[in-house]
Amino acid sequence: MSVLIYTENADGKFKKSTFEAVSYARAIADQNNTNLVAISIGEVSKDELTALGKYGAEKVLNVSNAKLKNFINQAYASVIAEAAKKQGADVIVLSNSFSGRGLAPRIAVKLEAGLADGAVSLPEQGNGKFTVKKTAFSGKAFAVVELTSANKVISLTPNSYKVVEKSVTPAVEDFAAEGNASDFKAMIKEIVRSTDKVSLPDADIVVSGGRGLKGPENWGMVEELAGLLGAALACSKPVSDSGWRPHSEHVGQTGIAVSPNLYIAIGISGAIQHLAGVSSSKVIVVINKDPEAPFFKVADYGIVGDAFEVVPKLIAAIKEYKASL
Ligand SMILES: Cc1cc2nc3c(=O)[nH]c(=O)nc-3n(C[C@H](O)[C@H](O)[C@H](O)COP(=O)(O)OP(=O)(O)OC[C@H]3O[C@@H](n4cnc5c(N)ncnc54)[C@H](O)[C@@H]3O)c2cc1C
Repeated sequence: MSVLIYTENADGKFKKSTFEAVSYARAIADQNNTNLVAISIGEVSKDELTALGKYGAEKVLNVSNAKLKNFINQAYASVIAEAAKKQGADVIVLSNSFSGRGLAPRIAVKLEAGLADGAVSLPEQGNGKFTVKKTAFSGKAFAVVELTSANKVISLTPNSYKVVEKSVTPAVEDFAAEGNASDFKAMIKEIVRSTDKVSLPDADIVVSGGRGLKGPENWGMVEELAGLLGAALACSKPVSDSGWRPHSEHVGQTGIAVSPNLYIAIGISGAIQHLAGVSSSKVIVVINKDPEAPFFKVADYGIVGDAFEVVPKLIAAIKEYKASL
């Protein structure tokens, strides 16, 4: 057995969720007394690739092919599956990120592997069994799945496994792979950002507003808070349905699923469909004037109060703190 970890990058930099997945893959390799190989696709510096050793990767395969500069689900899945075959890896780990959710099932098909998508803890192994606890029903429940196939694909829910530092100096090797011709039926030619603000699926901090904010004219303070924290903006479904905010900010079961380190919910009730997309956030702060709002049940910190009083005070406190640094 050997373990392969796909290390996703954003603009050439690995994210925290990638380091979590590398640490998780390292722990699976340790469980099985085997080695851990990482694969990176895209333009990533040698220093960044070498840093993967800090989390236990012994070898790093670097795929820097101009055709694969931008993410293409089919092609990336082909390249990762090819690397798994060449390395003799039978456990393939990746983050259950926005791209990971598209990649994991495709890799599983190519390797005829069982899939545990959205894993939340290390596999349990014994008596020839390999079981993984994972989220189910959009995060509303957990399922324990047994992977009975020889090859196994596991995508790890961000924030469910801690980053563990090791001191390994990995061998960085070029891996020549380019996917199949049929993988390139649709290609990204150019990425033009609609905003220079932080991208929501990758954000470390998210500030989110709900119907409690009464109307789009009140988003100034939410934007100011997000700006001070370097956070991305999000909103509940009715807010985007009403046209107060763009649909690209809608989080939840039918919107984007996020797993930031900090999620601040302002004037959002915490309906189950909203929680489905945000409950794997590491720390949840809820500001709501109704002490019975369901969101408080999953909050790490709750502020019962009127958002129009609490948020300006929060902004003032952050400004004061920043000025004191
Ligand atoms: C199939 C389906 C899919 C859905 N998918 C999603 C989804 O992906 N995402 C999503 O968000 N919803 C989704 N919904 C809708 C969801 O059920 C809720 O209706 C929605 O999340 C409620 O949005 P809200 O919390 O902003 O509004 P409300 O439920 O109206 O809550 C507003 C909250 O603001 C508080 N409030 C009011 N005034 C203030 C104030 N001055 N200061 C502080 N707090 C205040 C209130 O106490 C209340 O808790 C879905 C529903 C269905 C049926």
